Amino acid sequence: MLSFDQARDIILDHVRPLGTERVSLLDAAGRVLAEPFSAPWGLPRWDNSAMDGFAVRSRDCAENAELKVTGYLPAGHPGGSRPLEPMEAVRIMTGAPVPDGADAVVPVEDCAEESGFVFIEGKVRPGAHIRFASEDVREGELLLPVGTLLRPPEIGMLGTFGKLMVPVYRRPKVAILSTGDELREPGEPLGPGQIVNSNSLSLVAALKELGAEPLLLGIARDNRESHLEKMTEGLKADALITSAGVSAGDRDLVREVLAELGVTSVFWKINIKPGRPTAFGMYGEQPVFSLPGNPVATMIIFETLVKPALLRMMGYRRVKPALLLARLCEPVRKTAGRTQMQRVQLLSRDGRLHATGSGDQNTGILKSMVRADALAILEEDRTSYEAGDEVQVLPLGPAAAMLQP
Ligand code: AMP
Ligand code: MG
Repeated sequence: MLSFDQARDIILDHVRPLGTERVSLLDAAGRVLAEPFSAPWGLPRWDNSAMDGFAVRSRDCAENAELKVTGYLPAGHPGGSRPLEPMEAVRIMTGAPVPDGADAVVPVEDCAEESGFVFIEGKVRPGAHIRFASEDVREGELLLPVGTLLRPPEIGMLGTFGKLMVPVYRRPKVAILSTGDELREPGEPLGPGQIVNSNSLSLVAALKELGAEPLLLGIARDNRESHLEKMTEGLKADALITSAGVSAGDRDLVREVLAELGVTSVFWKINIKPGRPTAFGMYGEQPVFSLPGNPVATMIIFETLVKPALLRMMGYRRVKPALLLARLCEPVRKTAGRTQMQRVQLLSRDGRLHATGSGDQNTGILKSMVRADALAILEEDRTSYEAGDEVQVLPLGPAAAMLQP
């Protein structure tokens, strides 16, 4: 059976970034850049003052100096200032271009101005408080490579250069299909033996958190016709995620019907707990993820196997999650030969990260998933961990989003 790492690598080998589109810079936050962006010009565009103060010639200020104030340069109103003559100063505001002849700025708080003269104590270093042309960005410099996530700083950088329409990768439309006769949609009355289709809700939330576009297909009942109808619809999306009906029960029709519709099976079953019966297939270019029905398994497999694939489709270059190291607070026993995703809470103690179990680890226990802020990845070949042992942890939710490139 495939290991967790093998399964993830196989999935990643099967998916590629989707096409691109151009969006307004105002709508581009959270999107992934599809073309490299190089600086059309240097930044700042001219030498300018880093402080409110006086532009001076540093060689006039070797000792205490008294300079004649001959002009005023507010930001945004350049020009009008002739080159600085010896023993002259010009009042200058932050961001205003430094006048010719000046090579330093003395902050207003470091001098005294009186009757048209400014008094400067001590010595002024050449270049003091000047932001030099192109010291931030050189003309032609590659600033944002393809695959860059556009966050507020990137948006600001693009805006600085007047790039108002931005080429980004398309967001995947991801169809979500729950299967099972026992399921009712939220709000519908529940008869005996019936439960709410909560997986669809969790998956919608997970997709939105990622920036993908969820497409709700509802529930396929445990018969071939219902599966055929819903899956046919689902295969029109960029990716399809099904939940439940993928184990070996006699009503587990998912793999069978997908095959009938032309989905090529890539693998079924992974050496992982929870989520062992997970299946993966391809329909042309579209990945089809068949997740187990157990809500905890659905969410964990989404997080660990589906998400990296969707990130790649969205144009991210680094798609494997950044893992943290944490020390276990208590010993853990596990079955050999399976990677185990342990639901944990993260604590910081003495500046170190610690992980403590978030409750009952049975796959059927949802509460410990709710209380978890990370998954500890317990290695396939180990059978036990002691308190204090270091493990890799995968943060869940927005914290995980923060760790994405
Ligand atoms: P199955 O994989 O069909 O054997 O389902 C495994 C378990 O997950 C069963 O207890 C199901 O009732 C439950 N389950 C399946 N689908 C959902 C769903 N969409 N929402 C909540 N629980 C589900
Ligand atoms: Mg079922």
